[in-house]
Amino acid sequence: MTVIKLTNSKTRKKEVFEPIDPNNVRMYVCGPTVYDRAHIGNARPVIVFDVLYRLLRHVYGAEHVTYVRNFTDVDDKINKKAQDTGRSIKEITDETTQWYLDDMRAVGALDPDQMPRATEFIGAMITMIEGLIAGGHAYEAEGHVLFSVESYKDYGKLSGRSIDDMIAGARVEVAPYKRNPMDFVLWKPSSDDLPGWDSPWGRGRPGWHIECSAMSYELLGESFDIHGGGNDLMFPHHENEIAQSCCSHPKGGFARYWLHNEMLQVEGKKMSKSLGNFFTVRDLLDGHDGMPGVPGEVIRFVFLSTHYRKPMDWTAEKAEQAKATLRRWRNMVGEIETGVDYGRADEAVVDAVANDLNTAQALTELHRLESEIQNVYNRIIGFGSEYDGPEPGVLEAKFIASANLLGLLTPELGGWEETGVDLTAYADHLFALRQSAMETKNFSAVDAMKTALLEAGVEVRMSKTGVELEPGPNFDAAKLEGLL
Ligand code: AMP
Ligand code: ZN
Repeated sequence: MTVIKLTNSKTRKKEVFEPIDPNNVRMYVCGPTVYDRAHIGNARPVIVFDVLYRLLRHVYGAEHVTYVRNFTDVDDKINKKAQDTGRSIKEITDETTQWYLDDMRAVGALDPDQMPRATEFIGAMITMIEGLIAGGHAYEAEGHVLFSVESYKDYGKLSGRSIDDMIAGARVEVAPYKRNPMDFVLWKPSSDDLPGWDSPWGRGRPGWHIECSAMSYELLGESFDIHGGGNDLMFPHHENEIAQSCCSHPKGGFARYWLHNEMLQVEGKKMSKSLGNFFTVRDLLDGHDGMPGVPGEVIRFVFLSTHYRKPMDWTAEKAEQAKATLRRWRNMVGEIETGVDYGRADEAVVDAVANDLNTAQALTELHRLESEIQNVYNRIIGFGSEYDGPEPGVLEAKFIASANLLGLLTPELGGWEETGVDLTAYADHLFALRQSAMETKNFSAVDAMKTALLEAGVEVRMSKTGVELEPGPNFDAAKLEGLL
């Protein structure tokens, strides 16, 4: 069986992954707060953990993996949006949830098995808070319930900080009713114009952190395998989740492996609205500010070319290169059909992904497979009917299966590469001209045809064995007239 290694933020080590129950491997990833379109940074954890999900399904079997990602649909940012726009909260959260699903599917993310909404689990949160109060880990003050960080001896262990350091470094709002400035809110009162639920502490709403503790417990149990999210969530969100869950269920231990992706930047700078380099996944897909749209598969490829634990830089240039590579790959393998089993992925690709999600290495291995396939075609052309090497179709199936492990070359993400222009006749003609030129040693007809194609905006690639033509960005079909 494939050995999976993951860097565990909890131990700060790369460890061999051993699931609690190989028949039910469980992963929880913190999802979005649904008040606006996801920006492209938000797509990074989605794509990273989608690759991990695909790997786990590959190794343990699709029916033996449970992936939960929540929607935070109760939050002050949502309340503010409703006040600013005069729209109802439900309208805003429903619309944003659907946008999120559409955008993440467009970059090839599989839907998690469960996508709980916080508002569906308020009862479970209240129960957990009651237990924390009973256990001496939380206290009520002025309609709020606060978690007492001093009641949990390991508080700060994940992010490696002591409570004193946190107080010194943090700009925390020190409410007078807090016993310790780092104590955080589990429950807070709601005025009549805000969403609220009846609770033992009056009408109110939950704090953010408690929702992940309650939902992961309800859906995955008191201990499960993997917990993921961006590294900006490590403190305070994940630290607080651990404190709540471990104090509620001390025997459970909560998540065993913690994975954190690094942040994404744009053209070398932190994304920010004032720098004008902030854009949403939808902006990128549809095109924005005069820039053409980028296919979801291309976005995905660019993301995978940087290891998840390194900062990644989104650049237009990387997108151009990724697009050219993917177009070449899709042209090479032809139509990819839904429901077809393309067999097993290449070992080296699986091993790269299993090695702490080394997707950059996996892409390198795909390039190697591409050259193998090209070599086979070259030999077929060279040897003609005497060729007795491997079937290119078999290698291509393996290539597709390997790319699929990364969520690339799937039927769902295809279609963008079709130009609607068939240049085969021109390629055959140019090839024939060249064959005769090799005999006559007069290449003028070949050069003339090539120049005319280039003028029509066609990209021409000639090798010893063949001719490849593709319409480039300045393609003009009218200029092809009379060339055959
Ligand atoms: P939020 O809605 O801000 O809680 O973020 C949702 C997810 O996106 C979290 O896992 C964040 O860690 C992640 N995230 C936010 N900004 C970035 C970024 N610039 N790069 C990578 N991940 C990010
Ligand atoms: Zn969370």
